[in-house]
Amino acid sequence: MRGGILYHDGQFDDTRYAISLLRTLEDLGGVAINYVEAVALLQSGGKTIGITARDREGDASFDLRAKVVINACGVFAEETLAMEHRKHEAMLSVSQGTHFVLPHSFMAGTTALMIPKTADGRVLFAIPMAWLDDRGDYGCGCGSRVCRAARSWVGEEVHSGPH
Ligand SMILES: Cc1cc2nc3c(=O)[nH]c(=O)nc-3n(C[C@H](O)[C@H](O)[C@H](O)COP(=O)(O)OP(=O)(O)OC[C@H]3O[C@@H](n4cnc5c(N)ncnc54)[C@H](O)[C@@H]3O)c2cc1C
Repeated sequence: MRGGILYHDGQFDDTRYAISLLRTLEDLGGVAINYVEAVALLQSGGKTIGITARDREGDASFDLRAKVVINACGVFAEETLAMEHRKHEAMLSVSQGTHFVLPHSFMAGTTALMIPKTADGRVLFAIPMAWLDDRGDYGCGCGSRVCRAARSWVGEEVHSGPH
């Protein structure tokens, strides 16, 4: 090893963060809805004035009109933009991160580890979380193809050592 870096990572409970954000929105008079998908944009005079929404639980569709429509669809933002039926340059280069929860004994101590140089250029972090202990489970458990691929990649990186 030729060197290292020291960095500080803010830790918080993102479930509590999401609930707190939701409550702030409601305190300010907003209405939060879940399991409702924007399936089309309502347009008038070249402007987006609302969306057609589909309730994914009840399967009903309805129109929602608004003064301002914000496309905050994350990695799906370009799909939403395509609903404008105009030509747009590709803007996003998407990638996916995966979390694995491991028993504390996997890496005892309180210091995080970052591996910036891996076989395919991705970055690997191992971060001791304050609220996790030895009951940690291996893998995220969703069993999807992406999760299985990520799990096998992490295993290979851990066993192959530094590049
Ligand atoms: C496993 C993992 C770990 C990460 N860890 C960290 C970390 O430690 N620190 C950090 O800073 N970042 C982390 N990130 C990155 C961070 O989560 C993202 O950068 C951030 O969530 C992006 O926020 P966003 O609001 O742009 O999009 P998102 O949080 O993805 O929100 C987009 C929302 O739009 C919804 N949506 C999409 N299409 C539609 C539609 N047609 N109609 C209605 N809703 C729609 C989606 O369901 C989603 O809820 C991590 C990401 C992953 C996957």
